[in-house]
Amino acid sequence: MDPPVAVQEAPCVFCDIIARRSPAHVVYEDDHSIAFLDIFPFTRGHLLVVPKHHGARLTDLGAGERTALIHALHEVCRRVDRIATDYNVALNAGARAGQVVFHVHFHVIPRYGEVNPFQPRSRKPLDGAEAKRLVAELAVP
Ligand code: AMP
Ligand code: ZN
Repeated sequence: MDPPVAVQEAPCVFCDIIARRSPAHVVYEDDHSIAFLDIFPFTRGHLLVVPKHHGARLTDLGAGERTALIHALHEVCRRVDRIATDYNVALNAGARAGQVVFHVHFHVIPRYGEVNPFQPRSRKPLDGAEAKRLVAELAVP
């Protein structure tokens, strides 16, 4: 497996979070992956699960990194069960698929009965107090 360091080829907002150059509401971290709250959540508790190794796509990751990422995704989903029984897991690969951050990541989006929450215009910035409550619920192993 490649070393668990972010190899930054260009300015990358997720590499900055991994390196702690930028803040994030982190709910999970291990040697190879990190998960934090999305700053423009589609729903309450919208999370991103991110490998520490920089790569734009899942196919840019080595086998060990992919395994570690799925392990982290599973752990995050287990914790999301605390706040919502239902959720979507999504991966956008490429600009035409909606990818805007070219560091591969899974979205975990809790669902509370919305018909279609995936409306860009309905997204509001993550509220700081709400983020603290969510971290308190989700950062516990
Ligand atoms: P995608 O469209 O799949 O590339 O999703 C990128 C996601 O990253 C979007 O949902 C953004 O709201 C989110 N995002 C961008 N910058 C940050 C940040 N600094 N902290 C947390 N989430 C972010
Ligand atoms: Zn990156």
